[in-house]
Amino acid sequence: MSELQIRDVHKKYGSLEVIHGISLDVADGEFIALVGPSGCGKSTLLRMIAGLEDITSGEISIGGRTVNRLAPKHRDIAMVFQTYALYPHMNVEDNMSFSLRLAKIDQKEREERVGRAADILGLRPYLKRFPRQLSGGQRQRVAMGRAIVRDPAIYLFDEPLSNLDSKLRVAMRSEIKENHQRLRTTTVYVTHDQIEAMTMADRIVVLHGGKIEQVGAPLDLYDKPDNLFVASFIGSPAMNFIDGTITSGKFLAADGTTISLKSDLIEDGRRVQLGIRPEHIYLCEEGIPLYVRTIEPTGAETQIHGLLAGVPVVAIFRERINAHPGQPIMVGLDTSRTHLFDAATARRI
Ligand code: ADP
Ligand code: MG
Repeated sequence: MSELQIRDVHKKYGSLEVIHGISLDVADGEFIALVGPSGCGKSTLLRMIAGLEDITSGEISIGGRTVNRLAPKHRDIAMVFQTYALYPHMNVEDNMSFSLRLAKIDQKEREERVGRAADILGLRPYLKRFPRQLSGGQRQRVAMGRAIVRDPAIYLFDEPLSNLDSKLRVAMRSEIKENHQRLRTTTVYVTHDQIEAMTMADRIVVLHGGKIEQVGAPLDLYDKPDNLFVASFIGSPAMNFIDGTITSGKFLAADGTTISLKSDLIEDGRRVQLGIRPEHIYLCEEGIPLYVRTIEPTGAETQIHGLLAGVPVVAIFRERINAHPGQPIMVGLDTSRTHLFDAATARRI
């Protein structure tokens, strides 16, 4: 079993605390994405799991064994970095078998394991090539191959796709997911890209300022964000927010626009932020005006950027709509899909 447990882990650099008490249980075989903006502590947490960084306090265990004081090489983990860190003077085969050689695994077994990984990753034709003779995507695959041959208890990825162009990133994303479905090795995957996290992970951990904001399955975070941070971080284009007050069970925006709400349980006078995702705005003759600024037709959908209730919003329509910059279109908000957040605490109501 190779579950991972993180218990109240703190990290200080000198007097500066950057990880403020993180606890997380990762089940055996689970794929967890750690997502959050740059500087929120993703790499630091991952490096503490790997043993590349000391823990200031708390406990980390892998497969039921506390690893706080265990050297990286004894933790049975394999890490893939953003910079692939391949050995430039070794060909693909030697890069992949290097760690096995260090571990004194015999040649026959080494060849078998490298062969198997090469097949999984489509690297057979490239085994004799050097890194400089490979494309970015192929190098990335070799870095993955090096991790796969070791058959570790846990894979740790730190933004492994950030250096690839967008098309390759999408392709590698499904490749990594497919590998995980085949190998079922416990995985912690760090990314700042919420789409990557949404598409690959069983569960997502949203980090912000060295703390966990929310943990959950991708669509749970999308449908029920706990707070304004998660609501604005997950989803692209992002959720729209409108400032206002609850008045007679309705939402009253700062510019005087009223929006009916499904729930009338919220007390009058409460200051709130109303959140609505772009795809939950629909065309409606009896609705409210959305003053169109720009129209972005992508073929599959139409994105409208404009002003609604006095604030900038993005709306997405599946259909090809007739809209013109400077003119309003009439829209409704799907009240069963609106979100309310307390203006003072930023928490979901
Ligand atoms: P992320 O990977 O989410 O972008 P990091 O984990 O790299 O963020 O960094 C988290 C915070 O810790 C940042 O504020 C960063 O400046 C700080 N930090 C990282 N490494 C060090 C270090 N060696 N010394 C001091 N501060 C560091
Ligand atoms: Mg990082």
